[in-house]
Amino acid sequence: MKARPAITAIELIQFGFELQDIGQEPTIGIPIYKPGSTLQSGGNAIKIHTDTGVTGEFVGGAPTDYAAIRGFARSLIGRQALERDKIYNDVKQATRQIARMGQGVVDIALWDLAGKFYDAPIYELLGGHQQKLKCYASTYIGDREPDGLATPEAYADFAEQCYDIGYRAFKIHGWQEATIEEQIELVHAVGRRVGDKMDLMLDPFCALDTFGDALKLGLACDEENFFWYEDPLKDGGVSAHAHKKLRQMIKTPFLQLEHLRGLESHVDFIVAEATDFVRGDAVYDGGITGIMKIAHAAEGFGLDVELHVAGPAQRHLMASMRNTNYYEMGLLHPKAGPFGGPIYKDGYRDAIDAIDENGCVDIPEGPGLGVDYDWDFITANQTGSQTIQ
Ligand SMILES: [Mg+2]
Repeated sequence: MKARPAITAIELIQFGFELQDIGQEPTIGIPIYKPGSTLQSGGNAIKIHTDTGVTGEFVGGAPTDYAAIRGFARSLIGRQALERDKIYNDVKQATRQIARMGQGVVDIALWDLAGKFYDAPIYELLGGHQQKLKCYASTYIGDREPDGLATPEAYADFAEQCYDIGYRAFKIHGWQEATIEEQIELVHAVGRRVGDKMDLMLDPFCALDTFGDALKLGLACDEENFFWYEDPLKDGGVSAHAHKKLRQMIKTPFLQLEHLRGLESHVDFIVAEATDFVRGDAVYDGGITGIMKIAHAAEGFGLDVELHVAGPAQRHLMASMRNTNYYEMGLLHPKAGPFGGPIYKDGYRDAIDAIDENGCVDIPEGPGLGVDYDWDFITANQTGSQTIQ
């Protein structure tokens, strides 16, 4: 038997890059299409080193995750790197007062490490199989630029463009600032144009102030036969009571739980009958270990888990779950590219044209996450680093 690896050091790296034609939405600061503008963006990376030389890598997660990791990383030095479930539980306890930030990042890197140790892709370790993953086109949030996502008809045009590229499902992120009448017209414009040939989803990203507006918009989704309605309310998507009440009045299935973290919160929300589809995010929900726990819990309730945004971890997870429908390709825009930066050197991509003619993507085949990060790019653009050992 090969010697089992023990963790010797955890390396945390921050790097920066510029995004062209992107600005910040003025009220909540998320990226938005803004021609001529340059956004100073960046990323975060982790490397977990061991005494056998095998290393786990992951590029992703927020600066807040990495701030949290600095707090508990020392407790992982000397630990057995393959004991992911034990580490999941200990880090979950260690980060219980800070919303379990950092837990997912560490877990994903440990799965990458395990895949490299066993010389197998993560989906194979999870008992999954190579398959084609159906994608939905997930839009940027709306802007007011003449060639952007400025009007209901502009969204409908973009949905048709995505259909022509090969997508068979389309998710609208609307505007941060719009009247409820315009939000409703957006649902109808896209529904009229492509509703007979695409699964449609609506995600107001918690922009609606009132239960009344969330109800009106949901009833519009009913009229256009939407596939799901996600996070309408400014409660942040966390009120089980509000979403249970909305579900009693709206026929369109809800997708909630992007903003409640981890297994137990997910199960409580399901038991409260506050959602139909179950959201999971590998970084927010305790990593690949955390998502598989949620996937199996949801499977027991007869529900599907839909993973948040695109990335190699999501692909391995989807390949290992029966109860899931779509891979979220995004965020996409008619004139602007993805936000992630050029972090892969092996051709791995998540972008509008990264799908095949059937609207699908594959699962990376190499060991671990199966991607080759461009460490030359990351190091050349490094803005900070710390090694805990
Ligand atoms: Mg969402």
